[in-house]
Amino acid sequence: MLVAETIGEIRRNVRQARTEGKTMGLVPTMGALHAGHASLVEVARARCDHVVVSIFVNPTQFGPGEDLEKYPRPLEKDLELCRAHGVAAVFAPTPAEMYPREKLTWVTVEKLTTPLCGRSRPGHFRGVTTVCAKLFNIVGPDVAFFGQKDAQQAVVIRRMVADLNLPLEIVICPTVREPDGLAVSSRNQYLNPQQRRDAAIIYQSLEKCRTLVEAGARDADEIRAQMQATLAQVPALEAEYVEIVDAETLRPVDPLAGKVLVAIAAHLGATRLIDNISLDIR
Ligand code: AMP
Repeated sequence: MLVAETIGEIRRNVRQARTEGKTMGLVPTMGALHAGHASLVEVARARCDHVVVSIFVNPTQFGPGEDLEKYPRPLEKDLELCRAHGVAAVFAPTPAEMYPREKLTWVTVEKLTTPLCGRSRPGHFRGVTTVCAKLFNIVGPDVAFFGQKDAQQAVVIRRMVADLNLPLEIVICPTVREPDGLAVSSRNQYLNPQQRRDAAIIYQSLEKCRTLVEAGARDADEIRAQMQATLAQVPALEAEYVEIVDAETLRPVDPLAGKVLVAIAAHLGATRLIDNISLDIR
């Protein structure tokens, strides 16, 4: 497995694989790899001959006061996971390699980036779309793989690729969960044991929504109130949003109909967690 720190090295590696007629898959990550990332790699390996994992804690998607400095960077462990899962090359650039000069050019997706996480993290998605556009241009994959865990990110990236006619396919993979339902996340390691137990309430609240919908509920405000009540069972948890939106436009839906995204962001102490489920309501 090649570990490339420079754009030149990863481009040479990809060019070589292309001359061998291989199809190219890219899994963009910020490292601190876990079972969720591993599942993306597995899907990528099933689809593509040559899988590249990028590991880059992208400074431009962190706001002031967010966890950029404390974000975990266990590179050796990450490389082990990549080797174990048959990754062909890891691209792990420094910030200076990715951003060698004052940043003047950005890729911005409008509208889809303002609700949900966009409200509390202005500039976040602009950082995500810009770094993904750069990674797509550097690696040139046929397919890039993202997780449903970051549902808004998935919608935004898909839209960027469609609007800019980028020549790749975006595949969204299901959320990998812990046995108690908590979505696996690099940020879960910030939680103390009590917070870790409390965090399971987020998925329970999402499941509450699913149960209500299965029983025929369609009134968004009523469902959201019951989801809030579930979350309130953990007083230490502070809900940032509980939203039911159209899965494509991310606009609120009421009554519930069609493909909807049910999404929660919540704080446990200093840790911000997000999770979602999608429902297809006929
Ligand atoms: P991150 O390293 O957190 O930026 O995540 C890199 C990719 O892994 C993103 O496309 C995430 O949506 C995806 N991902 C993170 N957690 C999970 C999970 N629990 N299940 C599936 N995909 C995930």
